[in-house]
Amino acid sequence: MTASRVLVLNSGSSSVKYQLLDMADRSRLAVGLVERIGEETSRLVHEPLTGPGAAGGRREQLGPIADHGAALRAVAAELAADGLGLDSPELAAVGHRVVHGGTKFTRPTVIDDTVLAEIRSLIPLAPLHNPANVTGIEVARELRADLPQVAVFDTAFHATIPEYAARYAIDAATADKYAIRRYGFHGTSHAYVSRATAGLLGKAPEEVNVIVLHLGNGASASAVRGGVCVETSMGLTPLEGLVMGTRSGDLDPAVVFHLARVGGLSVDEIDSLLNKKSGLLGMCGDNDMREVLRRAGEGDEAAALAFAAYVHRLKKYIGAYSAVLGRVDAVAFTAGVGENAHQVREAAVDGLAELGLALDLEANAARSPEPRLVSAEYARVAVAVVPTDEELEIATQAYALVTQ
Ligand code: AMP
Repeated sequence: MTASRVLVLNSGSSSVKYQLLDMADRSRLAVGLVERIGEETSRLVHEPLTGPGAAGGRREQLGPIADHGAALRAVAAELAADGLGLDSPELAAVGHRVVHGGTKFTRPTVIDDTVLAEIRSLIPLAPLHNPANVTGIEVARELRADLPQVAVFDTAFHATIPEYAARYAIDAATADKYAIRRYGFHGTSHAYVSRATAGLLGKAPEEVNVIVLHLGNGASASAVRGGVCVETSMGLTPLEGLVMGTRSGDLDPAVVFHLARVGGLSVDEIDSLLNKKSGLLGMCGDNDMREVLRRAGEGDEAAALAFAAYVHRLKKYIGAYSAVLGRVDAVAFTAGVGENAHQVREAAVDGLAELGLALDLEANAARSPEPRLVSAEYARVAVAVVPTDEELEIATQAYALVTQ
């Protein structure tokens, strides 16, 4: 029997999301998540999608789960109860989403002690994310020591960005000393969606230039030339770029000095303000685009302004990345907002006919879980809606590495 299954783990600061996939047919065998780890009200939701357990549907466990170790052990027990345990000889690898790979990791990497130590050393660049990723790896290794563990980095797809675009225009020695540069994030999504968009156009990735707009709670844009990323909107951290659910995106860095000097805020307070209390939430009190749209539709001015600011920023990036690419074949919308909010797509593309962009408004407004084109027939640039699938991309990359 060839081992063809991959367990994908996405460990966040207080959650673990997981999927077990069979790469023989790219099917999903089980999915689930553990949330509120470390609290009294932890919750594990497990859904077997195949085998005898599938008929019973999703199962839920409520009650305290102390840490990531306990969470992963509980997940392993759920999988085992469905005959999908980590001891299965059919399991080929565990694929771990690792947020920050620094400049060191530009491709998926089999994890050994040295790699783990290097991921740990990148914690200062991603203090909220890499510690949870490290714990996830440690526990998975404990549970099944002989199994290849593969790290798939959120930054890796952006490693091809040319130096002049990756560098901030600051003192070079300072930048080098503190590893300050544009790394970019959401890389597995940008990789997957840019490739899927080429497929939708009936072309190979090498043949097309694509602007990918990943609009979820976090949001980022990328410019992909012939399958190679040449620019992205997130930077040293996932704070830069587009207006997001709770993050400001671009601002004059002097806002930070001003808040410190005049407002008396500490660095941690400013960090929290810009990462957790800004963006749509900061501007109108709601970070969920559904709520923003509903309120704006009812004439709420703050919500309408937040929506307008969100769309204005998107438009600026579409324009900038059109200039970066020179020729654009497609603009692809993905993630929670990009896939679902036709109003955002409509407003972002509105007025961009000179750039070759025009929508088929009816196609754009139709809901569908499938990848699809929503541009007008006459438009020079295709506009695509492509549901992202980061888990499948992580599993594909991990599986390719362990079977090559
Ligand atoms: P993600 O991070 O990709 O899971 O995206 C989550 C975000 O997508 C939510 O916070 C919502 O703002 C947005 N979203 C999800 N469904 C819809 C929808 N039907 N319409 C507008 N926005 C949506």
